[in-house]
Amino acid sequence: MIVGVPARPATRFDLSPPEVAAVLGDEPAYRARQVWAGIHAGREPEEMTELPAALRSRVATELPAGLHLERESTSDGGDTDKWLWRLSDGTAVETVLMRYPGRATVCVSTQAGCAMGCSFCATGQAGFTRHLTTGEIVEQVVRARRSALPRRLSNVVFMGMGEPLANFGPVWEAVERLHHDLGLSARHLTVSTVGLVPGIRRLTAEALPVNLAVSLHAANDTLRDELVPVNRRYPLAELLAACGDYVDAKGRRLSFEWALIDGVNDRPSDAAELAEVAIPLAAHVNLIPLNPTPGYLVRGPSAATVRAFRDRLKAAGVNATVRRNRGTDIDAACGQLAARAAADGDQPVTISAPSRR
Ligand code: SAH
Ligand code: SF4
Repeated sequence: MIVGVPARPATRFDLSPPEVAAVLGDEPAYRARQVWAGIHAGREPEEMTELPAALRSRVATELPAGLHLERESTSDGGDTDKWLWRLSDGTAVETVLMRYPGRATVCVSTQAGCAMGCSFCATGQAGFTRHLTTGEIVEQVVRARRSALPRRLSNVVFMGMGEPLANFGPVWEAVERLHHDLGLSARHLTVSTVGLVPGIRRLTAEALPVNLAVSLHAANDTLRDELVPVNRRYPLAELLAACGDYVDAKGRRLSFEWALIDGVNDRPSDAAELAEVAIPLAAHVNLIPLNPTPGYLVRGPSAATVRAFRDRLKAAGVNATVRRNRGTDIDAACGQLAARAAADGDQPVTISAPSRR
C-alpha cells in the first residue's frame, strides 16, 4: 500500500467499467453502461431519471462521490471558479476552473498538501496530508467539465495542490482515464512538476505524450536549493538532462514555470541564466508574478519589472509569456483557498507536517 493512503471505500470514479458492473451485480449490462455514462457526464444519481428509482438509490450509496463541495468562489467576472472540496475522510483539496471564449481549462489537485516544502507556496507551507486516488483526480475533471458547459473543457493542468510525480501511479492512471474515458487528448493534458527526476524518467517511458511543465524558479543550484528544497536531491544538471530526454522522446513542448519573486529571481542575471538553460531545450517560459502567501514575506515584483524580465528573455531568443494571475482575489494560487479556509476557522484542514508560518 502507498504510504499516506488509508484504506477507504472506492469512490465512483475509482472503478473501471467491469468493476462498476460488479458493484451493480444482478443489473443487466445496459444498466451498468447507463450508470457509467451518467456518472461520467457529471450527473448526480437523482438526476439519472432514465434509471429506476431503486437503482438510483443504489448508485448513490454503493458508488459514492469522492468530492463534497465545501466552498465555491468566483472571480474575474465569473470566468474563474474555485472549489474547495472535502474528501470522504475530511481532507480538503481544491480545483480551479478557468473559462475562456468557447473553451475552459481545469487545474486539478493531485495530493492533499505537498511534502516538497517550496518556501513561497501555500500548499508547501501546510505540509503533506495524503495522496489523492485516481477517482478523486478524475472526479475533479468530470465536475469541472459539467460546470464549464456550454464551453468545451479543452485542457487539464495538473497544477493544483500537490506534486503529481510524487503520486505517480494514481496520477498516471488518471491521465489514461481522461484520455480514454473522457476523450481528452494527451496533448491537452499538462503535468507540472517541481523537478522529480525519476518521475520525469517514468513519464518519458509512458506511451501518452502529455505536456511537461517544470517549475524551475531558479537556474543556478544555490538559489534553487533555497527556493525548491528538492533541488538538493535532483540538482539542475540532472533535471535538465531528464527534460532534454523527455523532449527528445515525445516531441512535446517543454515549459518552465518561473514564479517571479521581488529581488530574489527577477534580476537581469536571473533572466540571463534562465535563457541559457531554456534555449537549448527550446523551452517556453511561463512567468507568474508571485502570489503572496501568509508564510512567505517577499512579494511579486512590480509590473514594470515583470515586463523588463520578459523582454530580456525575448531579446535572448526565449519564448516567454506572463501568465495572467487568474483568481488572485479568491486565493486561486496553489493551495491558497485551503489555507484560507483553515485560517478562517472552518473545519481544520488535516495537516500532518508543521506549518512553516
Ligand atoms: N507541485 C507542482 C504542481 C503544483 S504547483 C509544481 O510545483 O510544479 C503549480 C505551480 O504554482 C508551480 O509552478 C508552483 O511553483 C506555482 N506556485 C506555487 N506557489 C506560488 C505562489 N505563491 N505564487 C505563484 N506561483 C506559485
Ligand atoms: Fe509542492 Fe508544487 Fe507547492 Fe512546491 S510549488 S510545495 S512542489 S505544490
